[in-house]
Amino acid sequence: MPRYADMSKAELETELAQVRARYDEMVARGLSLNMARGKPSAAQLELSLPMLDVLDADADLIAEDGTDCRNYGVLDGIPEAKRLMAALLDDEPDNVIVLGNASLTAMYDAMARLMLFGTQGAAPWNQLPAVKWLCPVPGYDRHFTICEAFGIEMIPVTMDEHGPDMDEVERLVAADEAVKGIWCVPKYSNPTGATYADEVVRRLAAMDAAAPDFRIFWDNAYAVHHFSADASEQDTVLDIAVACAEAGNPDRYLKFGSTSKITFPGAGVAAVAASPANVAEIKRHMNAQAIGHDKLNQLRHARFLNEGAGLAEHMARHGALMGPKFELVCRRLDEELTEAAVATWTTPRGGYFVSFDGPDGTARRIVELAKGAGVTMTGAGATWPYGNDPADGNIRIAPSLPPLEELDAAMDVFCCCVKLAALEQLLA
Ligand code: PLP
Repeated sequence: MPRYADMSKAELETELAQVRARYDEMVARGLSLNMARGKPSAAQLELSLPMLDVLDADADLIAEDGTDCRNYGVLDGIPEAKRLMAALLDDEPDNVIVLGNASLTAMYDAMARLMLFGTQGAAPWNQLPAVKWLCPVPGYDRHFTICEAFGIEMIPVTMDEHGPDMDEVERLVAADEAVKGIWCVPKYSNPTGATYADEVVRRLAAMDAAAPDFRIFWDNAYAVHHFSADASEQDTVLDIAVACAEAGNPDRYLKFGSTSKITFPGAGVAAVAASPANVAEIKRHMNAQAIGHDKLNQLRHARFLNEGAGLAEHMARHGALMGPKFELVCRRLDEELTEAAVATWTTPRGGYFVSFDGPDGTARRIVELAKGAGVTMTGAGATWPYGNDPADGNIRIAPSLPPLEELDAAMDVFCCCVKLAALEQLLA
């Protein structure tokens, strides 16, 4: 079959009739499938069920520093949990504050503190005429929602397979002191799966910023979420803390992470890691907010994951479940769409998403068609600030939740919808 772009009008019409007939068959099947959100599957959640038995009524509930985990106290986390989260965040336990159940809350709180109190002596951001934030695109919709909630103006910056376009980032950050920060998902990024190149990390750490209180929100949500247990098939990322310290900007970053997609989303442990000055500042503010977080949850996570030493083995089990799903998605896209040459997509080695780009002006139509055939996708535009993808081309595919068989059926529908939308456009 030739590329759609090389087909005559008559050929396109014949192809459209076939694809439409296939689509109508799919609609008639009455499917109900979901590839919208990056949730672990039931099989993945089962991997962590033994954690629920770690703390039974006979268990020792005293942390190593003598803290009774059943009671009030310990603002920044028990030592065992600090070691676990330090392993996850590639940092020292002393630089880690263990928080509640979600890193998203930690990021929201960090932004709220910057808005209300400022940082390291600089003016609170809500006293400034404008606050702007760099948003690598496509990106994570909930990051954008945080900015929107605080009235922060978002500036999209293009992502490629090495991270954000650093020429553009450096230009924007140097030119305008209202640009106060950037979202970064440095490993297996949401949704492209890209991992930042060492050079990108070094440039982020060292670039001249017009705002002395410029902050990198380093959301390492997929730090250990590889598909392969073989180290040669895993991505690695340079430590932003080391890069910032070496560049003479030790307070520039805040690292975030959680065990949401390691154990149980919504019932995991989150943490922030930062420079000593930032850790002290955060603790000072937190002192008014909390007495401490859930130490029983910290204790069972630390014991279940052997304070970090058990992470690789546990994540290999997740990878064994996730790898085949991503392989299936990329294989089906390849089989169905390569010849027509109407789309591109990423092939990540970890994380939770495939980023798909159809012809400009078709993403909304593809998602609508898929919905009509019973397949829910992430909303078109969600990967852009304000839900506005100017090309209307990007769609995030989240293959983790459905079992393989359902995923196969969902990809059937999705690929058919892509072809249909592309043909409709070519013949319009
Ligand atoms: N950060 C990124 C990049 C994510 O993709 C997600 C979930 O999809 C989260 C954060 C949410 O993490 P948490 O459950 O710790 O709030």
